[in-house]
Amino acid sequence: MGYIELMDISKSYNKQSNVLNGIDLNIEKGEFFVLVGPSGSGKSTLLRMIAGLEEISGGTLKINEKIVNHLPPKDRNLSMVFQNYALYPHLTVEQNILFGLNARKIDKQVQKKRLEETAKLMGLSDLLKRKPRELSGGQRQRVALARAVVSEAPLCLMDEPLSNLDAKLRANMRIEIRRLQKQLGLTMIYVTHDQVEAMTMGDRIMVLNDGVIQQVGEPITLYNKPSNLFVASFIGSPK
Ligand code: ADP
Ligand code: MG
Repeated sequence: MGYIELMDISKSYNKQSNVLNGIDLNIEKGEFFVLVGPSGSGKSTLLRMIAGLEEISGGTLKINEKIVNHLPPKDRNLSMVFQNYALYPHLTVEQNILFGLNARKIDKQVQKKRLEETAKLMGLSDLLKRKPRELSGGQRQRVALARAVVSEAPLCLMDEPLSNLDAKLRANMRIEIRRLQKQLGLTMIYVTHDQVEAMTMGDRIMVLNDGVIQQVGEPITLYNKPSNLFVASFIGSPK
């Protein structure tokens, strides 16, 4: 039994053929779990179903022992970070970070305290009054992370959060995200199409191709004992 349980999960869009098939998976509390696979393999679809942003076509999804198939996103106690940051351009950093807390009508004093803590943690204290256009790509990405962290949700979902950054920044952010995840004790489900990212960040990795799980395991296991040719060539061939 895991913290997140997927039982025979499938997905089809508009009654067309399945883009995900028979996904069985358990993710433990506090785990850094990576979903990796080529473009179009179904990673974002799977993540969005866990978030509640996409309807589940078949199977059962449990979070913390509760079936959540039809629970709206706001009641799932999770945060999400997207590839394109999705910051509001007309709002300041501070307003962006607090957007979710405001929407949930969290007490202003509590908001202020959480903002200060989060800004400090993410190195954003001096940037709170700026607009997104006045920030570098790395700083914007940090604001997006801060918005997830400030929610204090125990589960964080990330969909290719670093793919808009240059290689050096990406390497730094990998370390930063891992540090954050550990420090806050988050359960993380992290989507990437980048094998290096998967191998360096994941406690465990799930390799997906064409909507079907190819293998789930620790990085070293996937590397030394790939269960099929696809995993061998996908994991074995750096970009
Ligand atoms: P990945 O994130 O691994 O690139 P996606 O989950 O985005 O993969 O897509 C998996 C498959 O589902 C692709 O064939 C894609 O075209 C299809 N798909 C994704 N979103 C939709 C949608 N909203 N409507 C119809 N088909 C979709
Ligand atoms: Mg995707």
